Amino acid sequence: MSDMKEPFLNAVPLLEKIEKAGYEAYFVGGSVRDLLIGREISDVDIASSATPVELKAIFSKTIDVGIEHGTIVILFNGMAYEVTTFRSESEYEDFRRPAGVEFIRSLQDDLMRRDFTMNAIAMDKQGKLIDPFRGTQAIKERMIRTVGDPFERFREDGLRMMRAIRFHSQLGFEIEDKTLDALKALAPLLKHISVERKTMEFEKLLAGTYRKDAIIKLTETDIYQFLPGLADLKSEITHMAEYDCGDLSVEEMWALLLFQCKWQQKELDAFLKAWKLPVKKIQYIKSLLAWLKIRFAKNWTKSALYQAGFMIAAGAERLFNILHHQEANLNLEHLQKSYESLPIKKLTDLEINGGDLQEWFQKKPGPWIKEKLKAAEAAVINQEIENKKEILREWLSRCNQN
Ligand code: ATP
Ligand code: MG
Repeated sequence: MSDMKEPFLNAVPLLEKIEKAGYEAYFVGGSVRDLLIGREISDVDIASSATPVELKAIFSKTIDVGIEHGTIVILFNGMAYEVTTFRSESEYEDFRRPAGVEFIRSLQDDLMRRDFTMNAIAMDKQGKLIDPFRGTQAIKERMIRTVGDPFERFREDGLRMMRAIRFHSQLGFEIEDKTLDALKALAPLLKHISVERKTMEFEKLLAGTYRKDAIIKLTETDIYQFLPGLADLKSEITHMAEYDCGDLSVEEMWALLLFQCKWQQKELDAFLKAWKLPVKKIQYIKSLLAWLKIRFAKNWTKSALYQAGFMIAAGAERLFNILHHQEANLNLEHLQKSYESLPIKKLTDLEINGGDLQEWFQKKPGPWIKEKLKAAEAAVINQEIENKKEILREWLSRCNQN
């Protein structure tokens, strides 16, 4: 019996409601694992013998998220819970996820289809554990072990190999010998896995507490060879793992990796596109990298800080520190003070605008407006003149005469 915590206690009435209607329902997956480890719990996942249609008859507020896979979201007491119908995944196609799912009525079979023993533990509403594959023992031993034969399980779904390394990164658990052997032998099966699924696991890997070890594991197992754009980068990846990444964000980790590559813009774009990252994230990573390179050439000037913005400048500075084997946040407070002391943070903070210029100079609108605004902006940032309307007017008139 394990001590239940807040997120579970809130969902106990939901389990009771499903049971009252004549079905089974349990807590499962990552949340039960994290409870046993003592890690912070994100979402409470629930597995039930009731199908989505049956669940909809019990609860008034539900959201369809993947009915064909047996998953629906139930809104209950102000929270959203993902409930997945017990299922088995007997048919696999091309080493990918199951071609179809089969709903079943047994918890045991549902647990059997799960990837690792630590993820195949169920907990009932009283906190009693149902653990047919000795997941609790694996957690005690801090071991990542597949449910059943690892060769078979990885052939069914190659993504599980990446998941093993991602859990290694998040939890610091070792990968059991036979599971590791299977990983090395079957790494090429990752060719069949979609980029989207790989990216999700890779970003979790990059964010893990034990990411340094996990990144090395990617090279030791040859998994890296089957990830987008990484096939020829063994030495770059190995190099990246030499740095202590402190509390770098995922975007900063991408930039750290790319910094090792010394690529041209074109190769850089192709790499980030291959991972199908969102456009916004790609731009952010590219900015980090560009400013990091500038930072290697010289220290922050007022103008550089202004152009980069604080988020990017701070990220680039953190990367700069890490690449010098220093504490990530060294000098960051100073950088923040410098940024805060900038007289303006953006062009629209100037006390003058295009309309003022037209009125003062009585000229038709054209590129000259932008030129003058840019000149005023630079002078204000470098504290050559004050950001005051009258002062700017006088300064611009004087410039106009020369
Ligand atoms: P996280 O804390 O990152 O959410 P998690 O263990 O909950 O970790 P999910 O990807 O959310 O991971 O999956 C939920 C559960 O579904 C897992 O704990 C596992 O039991 C099962 N599962 C997920 N993906 C697979 C897979 N590819 N093969 C088998 N079982 C899987
Ligand atoms: Mg989860």
